Amino acid sequence: MSSATLLGIHHVTAVCGDAQQNVNFYTNVLGLRLVKVTVNFDDPSVYHLYYGDEKGSPGTILTFFSYPKSQHGARGAGTFNSMTFAVPPGSLEFWFDRLTGRDPEWYINAHGERSIIFEDPDGLRLAMVEVGRQMGNPWTRVIEASRAIKGIAGVCLGSRTDHSKKFFTESIGLPIELESAMHSGQMKTRLQVGPQFVDIMPTTMRSMGGKGTYHHVAFGVADQKVQSGWLGMLQNKGHNVSPVRDRTYFHSIYFRETGGALCEIATDRPGFTVDEPIDELGTTLRLPSWMMRDLEAIQKNLPPLKVPGIATNSSV
Ligand code: ZN
Repeated sequence: MSSATLLGIHHVTAVCGDAQQNVNFYTNVLGLRLVKVTVNFDDPSVYHLYYGDEKGSPGTILTFFSYPKSQHGARGAGTFNSMTFAVPPGSLEFWFDRLTGRDPEWYINAHGERSIIFEDPDGLRLAMVEVGRQMGNPWTRVIEASRAIKGIAGVCLGSRTDHSKKFFTESIGLPIELESAMHSGQMKTRLQVGPQFVDIMPTTMRSMGGKGTYHHVAFGVADQKVQSGWLGMLQNKGHNVSPVRDRTYFHSIYFRETGGALCEIATDRPGFTVDEPIDELGTTLRLPSWMMRDLEAIQKNLPPLKVPGIATNSSV
């Protein structure tokens, strides 16, 4: 399979604590659209919340599993440690002021880009960088178009050895965009996937799953035919890959890169309008067809959640 068949980062998934706190931050402060309220298909006792642009376009989607009782996780090797949002040129000062309550910091990264870093209410590390190119259809209901988040610029993976770099360059075939020395003298590598980046940052810190950490990163492909090509190719190279899973909004396969981080390859279709019209995205709890007969029990088991409605806030 050519790495050119990977269209970019499809979505990024993280773990949060309280679902309401998460919805309030990502919709009211960051101004993203809540595009889907569903449950973790592997554990329907917890919410799975999807944020993105107006349509939930691939490349703009950040999702959360809500585990209110989870311990706080820790950044380190073998997991994705940060995600960078793309924002319009000239908007970083606006964001720095808007995020004052979250202690943002100016940061020139190893590649010389001016960015801001901050944490969400659960301690999840996020960054913003200005990106000129057009991406998706930003949601402008809360933040005007000249400042609204455009989508995902890239992600950063923590790695103890050069195994992760080998995996992404050799098994996946991602091109190296640039390498630069960090203060420690170690090399930070930037790989390119579609129009986005995957940074690999050396670290010896031990990571731990929990709220405030990333769960996995999904790379997008056009359809299931390309996905099955990747499944076969990764298996032939000796990697463990899950069977294809139907996630209603896309089809997925999962595998771990050699450093341990969970990765996914997801299809761009059918997308988030498959079970509700575009005007109503994220306004009611949606479940996959096989869970619908248990709708009442599942709903009763979930904490109440107020979501931005079509006109006013409503409850799912
Ligand atoms: Zn996923």
